[in-house]
Amino acid sequence: MPNFSQRALNMKPSPIVEMAQKAKAMKKNGQDVFDFTLGIPNFLPETHIYEAAKKFLEHDPGTYFPPRGTEELLFAFQQAMKADGFNYDTDQLCSSIGAKNALSNLFIALLNEGDEVVFPAPYWSSYPESIEIAGGVCINPICDSSQNYKLSAEQLENSITEKTKIFLFNNPSNPTGMVYSQEEVKDLGNVLEKHPNIWIISDDIYDKLIYDGEKFHHLLHTNPNLKDRMIIVQSISKKYGMPGWRVGMVAAPKELATLMSTMNSNMIMDVPGVCMAAATAAFSGDQTFLEEKRSSFQRRRDIVLEELAKIEKLICPRAQGAFFVFPDISAYIGKSYQGEILETDLQLCLKLLEETGVATVPGSAFGMGGCLRISYACPDDALKEGLEKMQGFFSKLV
Ligand code: PLP
Repeated sequence: MPNFSQRALNMKPSPIVEMAQKAKAMKKNGQDVFDFTLGIPNFLPETHIYEAAKKFLEHDPGTYFPPRGTEELLFAFQQAMKADGFNYDTDQLCSSIGAKNALSNLFIALLNEGDEVVFPAPYWSSYPESIEIAGGVCINPICDSSQNYKLSAEQLENSITEKTKIFLFNNPSNPTGMVYSQEEVKDLGNVLEKHPNIWIISDDIYDKLIYDGEKFHHLLHTNPNLKDRMIIVQSISKKYGMPGWRVGMVAAPKELATLMSTMNSNMIMDVPGVCMAAATAAFSGDQTFLEEKRSSFQRRRDIVLEELAKIEKLICPRAQGAFFVFPDISAYIGKSYQGEILETDLQLCLKLLEETGVATVPGSAFGMGGCLRISYACPDDALKEGLEKMQGFFSKLV
């Protein structure tokens, strides 16, 4: 074994990517595959974004750019935040290589060895990896389907110790698609107000994808007193259909935003200029298309819930955001498929893939076994056909 660092060796590959790769390999072999694994939004950016990128390349200045981000990007993001009711100066903002890079840098910036980060399970699978490599310890209150996968104020209070450094909140949630009500957010905010030494990272990247007329409620709006320790993480990946452009943004107290910029200057220098130009166009351009995308996701969410309801013992809390549902399939764990006992959610997901070509991600990848995640960011036809195949598979589990 090469002499790698223990921290790096502890890092596990993303199970989501692993399942997606298995599905891809089957597709390559000519099998019909219904890929419900990846959280990619399944639409391309608007034309004005490509125009901005082309224009940038025509006048490429052939240089590095400011580590915090170009003036244009910071201004465009500041204004986009303002439209959503968040007031920040541009020196309280910083760009990053996607929200992933923003989060990893934040954990490095805030955590000392052994500091605790509280966030509910199920959670997005990259959180623990980027916390642990920064020396942090994950504290994950279990929030199962009986509580709609949502963290209660009581659970938050009980998870806080003198070592708690960060509360990490993702709303709407990946992997569950759950959206917190104003009251639920306020209850969590009230707990946090009692603990003034805890930083709050609010991963808001799915904020525009909310259904059933529900609204996005933010801790800063329910509990404005939290602002001096609030860190907002944003991204162009999901809302503008730009995951490959790799632009994320942070809004935070000035000293922290400046530290993030210093980290950029040493670790990446800056986000590629062409990507910043495209992100500037995304934040500052016409936002009306968002409603069209939102309603098309809501239509697909309706299809998934309707089809999953036909699987008798599966429990699927009503997801109202992002593009994921997270059914509880625990009633089927330990059942057999054509004589083979499926002991875990992983075994069940692998069998489902092998037998039907339907690719999902086991809940254990998100800290909650006995569940699976379906991303419905795919065409309606594929969604319907895949879900029908899933129904057939579950009906054969005895
Ligand atoms: N946070 C959550 C909850 C996510 O689901 C993802 C991506 O799937 C990210 C952050 C990272 O997003 P980005 O593409 O901006 O790195």
